[in-house]
Amino acid sequence: MNQLAPSIVWFRQDLRVKDNPALREALETGMPIIPIYIWNPREKPREKIGKASRWWLHHSLTRLDKKISTYGSRLILRSGNPRVTLQKLVRATGAKVIYWNRSYEQETIRLLSQIQKCLEAENIQVKTYNSQILFEPSCFLNKKHTPYKIFTPFWKECQNRTLRFTSNTVLAKWPTPSLWPVTEDLKDWKLLSSEVYDSALQSAWNPGEQGAHKLLKIFLNGNLASYEFGRNHPSSSVTSRLSPHLHFGEISPSYIWNCMRRKTNAFSNKNSDQGALSFLRQIAWREFAYHLLFHFPHLKSQPMKHDFLHFPWEKNPLGLQAWQQGKTGYPLVDAGMRELISNGWIHNRIRLVVASFLVKDLLLPWQVGANWFGENLVDADQANNTLGWQWITGCGPDPSPYFRIFNPVAQSMRFDPEGYYIRRWIPELRKIPTRWLHQPWKAPNPILQKSGVELGLNYPYPIIDHARCRQKALDAFRTMKLQRLA
Ligand code: FAD
Repeated sequence: MNQLAPSIVWFRQDLRVKDNPALREALETGMPIIPIYIWNPREKPREKIGKASRWWLHHSLTRLDKKISTYGSRLILRSGNPRVTLQKLVRATGAKVIYWNRSYEQETIRLLSQIQKCLEAENIQVKTYNSQILFEPSCFLNKKHTPYKIFTPFWKECQNRTLRFTSNTVLAKWPTPSLWPVTEDLKDWKLLSSEVYDSALQSAWNPGEQGAHKLLKIFLNGNLASYEFGRNHPSSSVTSRLSPHLHFGEISPSYIWNCMRRKTNAFSNKNSDQGALSFLRQIAWREFAYHLLFHFPHLKSQPMKHDFLHFPWEKNPLGLQAWQQGKTGYPLVDAGMRELISNGWIHNRIRLVVASFLVKDLLLPWQVGANWFGENLVDADQANNTLGWQWITGCGPDPSPYFRIFNPVAQSMRFDPEGYYIRRWIPELRKIPTRWLHQPWKAPNPILQKSGVELGLNYPYPIIDHARCRQKALDAFRTMKLQRLA
């Protein structure tokens, strides 16, 4: 118990105790602290928080509260408008300082700066820190002092910069206020949707800081060695699966970056560890996505390449439904979409394949796909999701060329040659010989019968002909270009 005026530490997208600059600074003052999380379903960016992310948030907050209690403190939960909530809280507790870690999405930046102004008007000091990304976007510009739009020079610059080594130690006993403000019950926020969904995700994920560090350790001591080759093969499961942990800030990119650099020779010219370099490159892609959205906030809904504003997208509700449910008749696409709806995640290679199918075979707008991902991914992240969809569509900064159209059968044969991934997610195709697994509609009838596959009954015929759709997509692309020249 402490009679000194407490400080408030506002947890936002930094649901961790270690390597948390806002928390560390607050603790270093020795003043009592009140950790708080505010759930604001009406706050613009949060409005879109999908069901998989809500599931993650519920469990992450549960674990954060448990962790904080081991330091003799507690996490106060409040719902409502954050400005009003914080104002009420400072008045009730007499707090004089509020600490939080910054966000880099413009809408949230605006919201936070309004809150800061209101608090400062009441003589409350606000202290903010970066913990979400590696470098401040406003200080990370190219030689012309403009934002990077191409990844390769951005990645080079990342390698040239040094990052502070962060301290992981946390005070064992946190000073507590003399009076705790009331807290809400997490269950009342109704973040969980159903028991079946909950248990499916529970068996696949371990939300929270401890889960994040465990995954990083497993990755560093095992899969990193085969990452460079294996990262494209969904059944080899060598990627870190850290994306939801990074999104919710249960581990910071700078912690991962420094860990990796300390453990490996990444960035040293001689004997550079290729696995580590390739992994850090992916972390740099995340960074690139955040910087782009910071500098070009319209990207979350509009293409970087303006031509695409006139692209002749189609409306195809049945095609969309088949894609969403994993019933397109293309096994690799279906496996990915089924993994998404049951486990809230898809391997990067398969994200590329399913996204290409939506925008280039079905000619549906990328925003439709991004929304579905946003609803169903545990790692749904505005920056990464936007960049991923714009990249595959060919309309983003530094994108894949539009004419590169993934053939779902060729991708399947190349990246899931034995069909382990497909068989895992499409049980009705489990018994079909590998030779026919990638395109079951080509299998002779006796083979289908023996494998228990009844096309059109227990597994669909392909909903489209890829070769024809490919041509149609290329024609649409040319028309779009001609429209610009006209
Ligand atoms: P690892 O290979 O272990 O990589 C480590 C980390 O680097 C990841 O956790 C992630 O934070 C970052 N990273 C890896 N690849 C990329 C990439 N291509 N772009 C940006 N960051 C990357 N990632 C998300 O976190 N949230 C999303 O909503 C999201 N949507 C995507 C949508 C599409 C259409 C595509 C093509 C990609 C999307 N990605 C998204 C990027 C990528 O697919 C995932 O980050 C990755 O699959 C996560 O798995 P991992 O943690 O095992 O990755």
